[in-house]
Parts: sequence; C-alpha cells; structure tokens
Amino acid sequence: MDKLTIRDVDASGKRVFVRVDFNVPLQDGKVTDDSRIQAAIPTIRALLGQGARVILASHLGRPDGKVQDGLRLRPVAQRLSQLLRLNVPCTGDALGVGTDDAVQRLRPGEALLLENLRFHVEEEKNDPAFAAALAAYADLYVNDAFGTAHRAHASTVGIARILPAYAGLLMEAEIKALSGLLEDPARPFAAVIGGAKVSGKIEVLTHLMDKVDLFAVGGGMANTFLVAQGKSVGKSLAEYDRVDDAKRILAMAEKHNVRIVLPVDVIVAKEVTQGTEYKTLPADKIPASWHIVDIGKQSQTLMEEALEPAKTVFWNGPLGVFEIPSFAQGTKAMARFLADKASGGATVVVGGGDSVAAVKQQGLADRMTHISTGGGASLEFLEGRELPGIAVLQDRPAGTEAS
Ligand code: ADP
Ligand code: MG
Repeated sequence: MDKLTIRDVDASGKRVFVRVDFNVPLQDGKVTDDSRIQAAIPTIRALLGQGARVILASHLGRPDGKVQDGLRLRPVAQRLSQLLRLNVPCTGDALGVGTDDAVQRLRPGEALLLENLRFHVEEEKNDPAFAAALAAYADLYVNDAFGTAHRAHASTVGIARILPAYAGLLMEAEIKALSGLLEDPARPFAAVIGGAKVSGKIEVLTHLMDKVDLFAVGGGMANTFLVAQGKSVGKSLAEYDRVDDAKRILAMAEKHNVRIVLPVDVIVAKEVTQGTEYKTLPADKIPASWHIVDIGKQSQTLMEEALEPAKTVFWNGPLGVFEIPSFAQGTKAMARFLADKASGGATVVVGGGDSVAAVKQQGLADRMTHISTGGGASLEFLEGRELPGIAVLQDRPAGTEAS
C-alpha cells in the first residue's frame, strides 16, 4: 500500500486524532450491532499500546448540524469501554471549553470520544475553521473510517491537510483487499452483482469489465438486463430508462470476452410482501401481474457452476428481496457457497451494506476473506474513483517498504 500507516509512526506521548466510523445502529440507547466499533479496536489498541493520547471522533446518523439527543455517542462510548476494558468518556460536544479541557487532561494510554461531529453543520461542509479547531486537539491524524472515505468532510479531509495524516489498520486492510481486486486478482476473477437497481451499479460493472472473467447478475437489477434481452418482467422492479445501458454492458462484455450469467428461472410473487403467493417460473415467461423477487434454483446452480473455478470473487448486492424470508433463498445460498469457496482458498470480498448484512445474518462473515465496512465507499473504490479521505493521507516515500 502506498500510504503511510500507524505502523510508520511513533505515537508515544503524542495526541492522536483518530477518525473512526462509529455510525452504528442504536435502539433504546443501546448499540444493536457493534461490528464497526470492533473493527476499529486494533487501531485504537495499537495507539494506546504505544502510549498515545487518543482522541476518537465519528459521526452518527444524519443530524444535519443540529444536536439530537437520540444521536449522541454516549452508548457507543459505553460499548467501546467494555470492548477495550478501559473507560472511554464521551464529551458533550465536539468543540468547547470542556472538551478542550478533557483533551488537555488526557494522559498517555488514555482515550476519549468526541460527541457526534455532525451536530456541527461545518463537518459535512469541510469548513476550514472547524477542521482547524479539530486539528488543534492533536499532533497526528489517523483515519480508520473507511466507510466515510468517499466524503470530503472536515474530519476526513480538512484536518488531514493540517496534521501529518496516517491510515489506521482497518483503513489499510480495506485498501489492501479492494485494491487487490483491481490490481492483481488471482484468476479466474468473478463478480456477483445484485441489489435493487442497475443505475447504481453501472459504473462498477463498467470499471470491472476489463478485469473480471465473469459477472453473475441477480437481484432487481437483473430485471433490466432481462428487458434488454427482449423479455418482459411483468410488475417487477426494472429501470426502463436504463435498458440502453444494460444493452451497452452486454455488448461490452461480448467484446471483452466476459461471460454474463443472468437468471434463467426466478421466484415470482403476487406482491412483494411476506405471506403472499409465489412460485418459480422460467425467466422468459413472466406474467404481466407478477413481481420477480428472487433467483430460482436453476439460476443458483448455473451461477455456482460458473463460479466454481473462480479464485477471486467480489460480491455486491443481494440476489433477491432478502429482507422477506421467503425471498432470501438465492442470497442465502450465494452466501453459503461463497463462504465455502473462501474456506477452500479462494479470495472472497463482500462489499455493500445489504449484502454484508445478509452474510452476517447467517453468521458467515468470519469465513469470508474480507467484509468491507464501507458500503458506498467500497463501491466508489471499485468504480476506480479516488476517495478524497484516502487521497489526502501521506504517501509512502518512493523506495521505502511498508513495515
Ligand atoms: P448493497 O447494499 O449490498 O449494495 P443494494 O443496496 O444495491 O445492495 O440493494 C439491496 C436491495 O435490493 C435490497 O433492499 C433488496 O430488497 C433489493 N432487491 C434485491 N432483489 C430485488 C428484486 N428482485 N426486486 C426488488 N428489490 C430487490
Ligand atoms: Mg444498500
């Protein structure tokens, strides 16, 4: 990796501002999924172990510049304290005299968490004065918030222009896993792409076109491809204004010798709800009043056969409306199949909020090679875009090796 990381710095005694992604789900003042907190632990531990004074900062939800009690970070600080077995207090505000004071009093090996950055409207505006106020707390800056690296905010970009800026260990792992897909994947390399809409995935399909050997396409977005092939999809979700894009992608795939596997059979339902009538039909025989809600068994087998030789797989997007248990079979089967592949030695990377949720639901996250903590950020990375929060981190000097 060409960015400096916390392994390239001696943080002993230094004040280190660490941007983490603690944007976790809360219910009744409790964290219901702490995986994002867990993911930041290695970086925090490493810095505390070096004797740094650690100032953690994150956003939570979308308070749009206003204080919202339901979006305070106190429950997060509590969970973090349990995980670290170290009391990590949360300030009442990211700025202010009390916070200044708490930062000044931090001793080596201690940490505190600043209150939700987005209570200040300046955060998302990348306001220079706000960035300078955050920078004034610390000697060094570390970004471990891959999930927000695609946003140029005060705590991801502004501050990194002021302080010496390093990647955290989670950030490093994300960059390594995702750039490994783009740079030198073991072949055959396959991408399984699903999700609701083709419009959100066109750029990633296009950018991966000259890198993959195979695309398996499912979910709502496959419907637009079926339409592009002249099939009708009834009442299914489909983007008729994107049919030309789908045609262009099919043509591009032919030119690049990339195989595209589309569903040959699908689950159709009367309504997109639990408890409705549903059945399996061939993908070219969809009645006008039904919705495609999942891939069928034959499609599943076809995709598995096509993916069998793959040594690298990237998966983004569920293959059906997996939130409804009856329509989650295709997605669940893919998750199991890919977990087995990863156990067999293939590199399997899963990115995307809903696909990662589906993998976690089945307890398969640990078996994958890498589960990206960034939904939008991982997609933008694989679209070949430069993420501002990564670009701004210090480059490794030419000719030096990562430690
Ligand atoms: P990710 O978060 O993994 O990137 P997306 O956000 O692109 O995935 O897509 C997830 C959504 O796609 C889910 O809410 C799921 O219900 C929806 N979806 C999948 N298949 C279909 C379908 N056939 N019809 C309608 N929606 C679908
Ligand atoms: Mg999503």
